[in-house]
This record gives sequence, structure tokens and C-alpha cells, in this order.
Amino acid sequence: MKPLSFLPWIIAISGFMWLLIWSAEYFCFEDLKPNYRTLNLVETRATCHWKEQAAFAQDIATFISYIHSKGYYCTFGEAWRSHEQAEIYAHEGKGIVNSLHCERLAFDLNLYSPEGKYLKEAKDYAPFGRYWCSLNKKNRWGGCFHDHTGRLKPDCDHFERNSL
Ligand SMILES: [Zn+2]
Repeated sequence: MKPLSFLPWIIAISGFMWLLIWSAEYFCFEDLKPNYRTLNLVETRATCHWKEQAAFAQDIATFISYIHSKGYYCTFGEAWRSHEQAEIYAHEGKGIVNSLHCERLAFDLNLYSPEGKYLKEAKDYAPFGRYWCSLNKKNRWGGCFHDHTGRLKPDCDHFERNSL
């Protein structure tokens, strides 16, 4: 017998075995295959919330660039606020309990003129407030806030995204 004369037999038998296994798996064991299903994922508020926060943060970046492009300067005021702090502010009449600061959807910004003067009046913030609101229809500027009686109660350095 030549050394490799049995090789064609091995190839033929292994090919036949492979065909047998493949066909058995294909025809007989269909039920044993994992049953993958495509899920129609519906985004809940919880899964969407961070995206809104991220979009808000992106708007802040655009906003600050705009302020600098106009020759003005700004520094950060308060951004995130704990619920405990919000309760303290509400007690002191300086804020509300359900503040968007607690949701990472509000920030306070201190505006400075091109000459470096700290600006406090609504008229100084107004053009930037309008620009902030133009970035997204959910964006609101605190300069337009009213109290519960309907009287204007501006919070000029406050910028937020009302997505709740
Ligand atoms: Zn604020």
C-alpha cells in the first residue's frame, strides 16, 4: 500500500461527515438554534435624559463662543445644584425646589463687558438671552421669567433648557 493511498478516502469520508452534520443541523436542529429577535427599543425618559443634558452642554459651548465673538467675557456661576441646596434656596426665596439646575439643564453665567466691567442689568444680557433661545426651542433665558402672580421677575444670569 502506498503511504498516501488512503488520503482520498479520508477526504471523502470527512466531507461526507461534514455534509451529514451540516444537514442535520440545518434540517433537524433548527429548534435548538438561538432565537434572536429584533427588539423595537422605545426610549424612555431616563434613556433620553442624558442626551438632552449633552445637547444642553453643547449649546453652552456654542453660547460661550458667541459671547466671546462679540467681544464680551463670561465666567461660570452655578451649574449643577443638589436637591438639598435647591430646598435651601427655595426657603430663602432665591430659587425653586424643582430647579432645572438639579437636572443638569440650567446654568448661571456672569457677563463682562469688553472693557472688563461686570454686567448685572437685564439690558446687558438681553441680546445674549435672545441668542441662547435661538439655539433650541426648549432653551429659556431667565431674563423673561415671571413670578406666580405674572409679574416680571428676571433672573438675568440664568440660562436653561426646559425639556421636562
Ligand atoms: Zn440659575
